[in-house]
Amino acid sequence: MTLRKLVAGNWKMHGLSSDLAEIEAIAEASRGYPQVDVALCVPAILIERASRAVPGFAIGGQDVHHAEKGAHTGCVSAQMLVDAGAALTIVGHSERRDAQREQDSEVKAKAEAALAAGLDVILCVGEILEVREQRAAVETVLAQLDGSLPEQSATGVELAVAYEPVWAIGTGKIPTTAEIAEMHAAIRDRLAGSYGPAGETVRILYGGSVKASNAREIFAVAHVDGALVGGASLRAADFMPIVAAASVDR
Ligand code: PEP
Repeated sequence: MTLRKLVAGNWKMHGLSSDLAEIEAIAEASRGYPQVDVALCVPAILIERASRAVPGFAIGGQDVHHAEKGAHTGCVSAQMLVDAGAALTIVGHSERRDAQREQDSEVKAKAEAALAAGLDVILCVGEILEVREQRAAVETVLAQLDGSLPEQSATGVELAVAYEPVWAIGTGKIPTTAEIAEMHAAIRDRLAGSYGPAGETVRILYGGSVKASNAREIFAVAHVDGALVGGASLRAADFMPIVAAASVDR
């Protein structure tokens, strides 16, 4: 099954009021690619201003707390993201799994809370370099997926999975297309096993050093239904060629 491609930018801890013009430029240019879904996940504090600046364009968060409300200093709930204008959120990014010691069970709870609040979710999984070198990448990522996937596939909201090898994030290194194909096929099988036919429609994004120069080749791999893009999503000049590559019929 061929799915519409989704290209989502992860701005991480980048973005001030002065960058709203860049978000506007990306939203405007994205209208030229109606066959691709485009989104930008920006710092929580920028979501409201960004979503007001680009009505109809998908602005998202980068993380969410699993609880509805309560004594969680510094955290943001799913309802708060929705209230600020977010349409989606990332959960389980490796930088949070690492720095905030997030476990699969917590990532699963976050995904379930976000979907229940009406947000689309991009759930990240990926192996560290040592695991890839030990040839244990597929089993490791599938175990992460088993621990982090929400109980049910979503209705009315969308779950996407981003395969992001940790060693490829921000490094300029990427797996071979054969390695990406092997992993995405394994994830597709596991999604079908978990959700039945609905698992066939969960988009599987590749993330890790996607750039204009490699996007076409990555998007041509079977079961690559889009990309999660970090550094190259900060500027329209770098990001839009990736969106353009996603629009090419294969
Ligand atoms: C990311 O952090 O999700 C990511 C893919 O980063 P980069 O594109 O910079 O490797």
